[in-house]
Amino acid sequence: PGLYGSARKNSAGIDLTVRSERDDLALAIGKLDRNPLHAKPLGGTDAKKRNQKEVRSPADHSRVVGRTSDATPKDIDAAVARSRKAQRAWDAAGGAARAKVLRAMADALEADRGRLIAILSREGGKTLADGISEVREAADFCRYYAHLAEKQFSGPEVLTGPAGERNLLSLHGRGVFACISPWNFPLAIFTGQIAAALAAGNAVLAKPAEQTPLIAHAAVLLFHRAGLDPDLLSLIPGDGATVGSTLVNHPEIDGVAFTGGTETAWAINRSLAARNGPIVPFIAETGGLNGMFVDTTALREQVIDDVVLSAFGSAGQRCSALRLLFLPNDTADMLITGIKGAMDALVIGDPANPSTDIGPVIDTEARDALERHAERLENEATILHRLEAPEDGTFFGPILAEIPAPDFLQREVFGPILHVVRYEPEKLEEVASALASLRYGLTLGVHSRIDGFADEVARLVPAGNVYVNRSIIGAVVGVQPFGGEGLSGTGPKAGGPNALLRYAVERVTSINI
Ligand code: GLU
Repeated sequence: PGLYGSARKNSAGIDLTVRSERDDLALAIGKLDRNPLHAKPLGGTDAKKRNQKEVRSPADHSRVVGRTSDATPKDIDAAVARSRKAQRAWDAAGGAARAKVLRAMADALEADRGRLIAILSREGGKTLADGISEVREAADFCRYYAHLAEKQFSGPEVLTGPAGERNLLSLHGRGVFACISPWNFPLAIFTGQIAAALAAGNAVLAKPAEQTPLIAHAAVLLFHRAGLDPDLLSLIPGDGATVGSTLVNHPEIDGVAFTGGTETAWAINRSLAARNGPIVPFIAETGGLNGMFVDTTALREQVIDDVVLSAFGSAGQRCSALRLLFLPNDTADMLITGIKGAMDALVIGDPANPSTDIGPVIDTEARDALERHAERLENEATILHRLEAPEDGTFFGPILAEIPAPDFLQREVFGPILHVVRYEPEKLEEVASALASLRYGLTLGVHSRIDGFADEVARLVPAGNVYVNRSIIGAVVGVQPFGGEGLSGTGPKAGGPNALLRYAVERVTSINI
């Protein structure tokens, strides 16, 4: 098997159509409800009692899922100091030793998936199906990066050169990485960033999103139990404005991996640029204003299925989600009628119920922002369809709206709102260029049965992940390496063969023999 070939298998997950699997999940959720969790700084930090904030479920604000205590600047100092010490041995141990720990972590995630899915559902408002996928993806990241660690970090590569000289190239960890992750994939992306940084030989200070510290706490404990020296991975809970910014401004951080909004990425980039110390890498994976182009030859049923899943799955809270749907004038009405019908079949409600399609949005701030956008759509565009949403918790009824042109949107709208733009096929170039000029470049969808149409659209709209005649969400580790360009991020792609390189330094030794 080659470097990226068949040596590695992705996780299988569980089948929700099996009654006993559903019963097990219900038991895990009941157990969590009886035993609220407490997230606190972990790892190289001293976890004393301190102010505790309640973590409430977005699906039901009366439900307290647990408590969280923020990390202080002192915690961060202590964690950095201990990480730095531990990191040298970890780097020296080599890729194969690190791969062993990452594989143990993947097994631990799978063994504990019921509890993890319960936390994802209660704390993050994830549907059970999304929770299952997320545990799978977290395990897949661990195994994939374990594989890369073995292949790319297992001793020096001998380079051909002049006789009488030996030239050796090797990859090493940079030191201490700050990993800052979002609430929308609070296990998969949290674990993926950490696994990448560790695989490359770094120690990690991981700051989870403020909204989802409990699942992060559970994941860090699993890493430690899987055999990782706790000094190599510290949990740094807290908000972005104070804790996150203390972390990225710490003079001894050797690199930052961030997934979240474009505005935050700019702020981190500016902080890093203002330092007078070593110049460190910034790996950013941000938002998108993702489009899908449908032509008149596209298969109606398939378009409708893929559009509804891409725009409204996970309550639209994926950076890969579909935001702008381009429909040709001739078939637009027919497709819109079909999309409305499919929307009416969506079940919105308790994410712990196996038949729920759409859970809540993450918090009131998110819902308020969506409400403000809906008001703008009402005043300046046309709302074609809107679903009702439950009153308790932060639910938001999906919206289908029509806008005149892509530049109606400038910033990502993070939730279940889909914007339709009608276009005349002769004007494809104009309308696609208008999308490209928004300067995001994450996912792009095309639905067509004409050879060459997808290539033409992809030439006009640069994007990191192009999906043809399918949905545009749910990139699979090692299969669809994921990440964008422009306002959407820096790369390298998560779950791809080059993922570890920016977490590493290259060293060359030349020996005269
Ligand atoms: N990788 C996810 C997908 O393909 C999206 C990640 C994100 O939302 O940050 O749907």
